[in-house]
Amino acid sequence: MPFKPVNHIIAEATGLPPISAPLYEYIMAGNGLFIRAKRDVMSATIPLCKHKIIGLPAVTPELTTSFDKVPEEIMRRILTVAEDTAKEGLESLFYLWLKAGAWQLEIPPQIRAHKTVEPCEKGAGSPYERAIIEIHSHHEWDDVFSDDDDRDETGFRIYGVIGHVNPARHYRPSINLRLGVYGNWWPLPAARVIEMPPWLRDRNSKEG
Ligand SMILES: [Zn+2]
Repeated sequence: MPFKPVNHIIAEATGLPPISAPLYEYIMAGNGLFIRAKRDVMSATIPLCKHKIIGLPAVTPELTTSFDKVPEEIMRRILTVAEDTAKEGLESLFYLWLKAGAWQLEIPPQIRAHKTVEPCEKGAGSPYERAIIEIHSHHEWDDVFSDDDDRDETGFRIYGVIGHVNPARHYRPSINLRLGVYGNWWPLPAARVIEMPPWLRDRNSKEG
């Protein structure tokens, strides 16, 4: 049989089969079109478009993870570095990965600029490759993903952007997380995967 990286599924009342596609699967359901995928430490089903289709059962969006939340101590270290580079008007990049189930913060070699931050390396065995959560900071700007971010963030991992972290200008630290599934995104409340420092605001929290 030819290699088939993507499956196309129509939801049935008997439920969905386990994920079997090596990359991802499209699901046509009674409440729209979804994409789902799984990797070592998580699986996800996220909506691509909402539309009622009579006769098909609905699918519930979900994120299932096998890891603990990122400790608050790590998040505080991220904010400290983000604030230091924000004072110079620069962005910063942070990778979070798991070593024997424990979260590790890695600040990879990177090229920092005012509108971008790029890792020096993206190949096999690089910090980029092992990241499960990828966060960058936007100095005094808002915690909104830019067009460049959308272009770059096309893997299956959790992406985050931190805004308003320049202590000298509009200081009001906030975070915006999204689950990325190969170029499609789903907003994620930060407390779902991070132990939040109390002063860090969450764009996707109902409490604001
Ligand atoms: Zn950005």
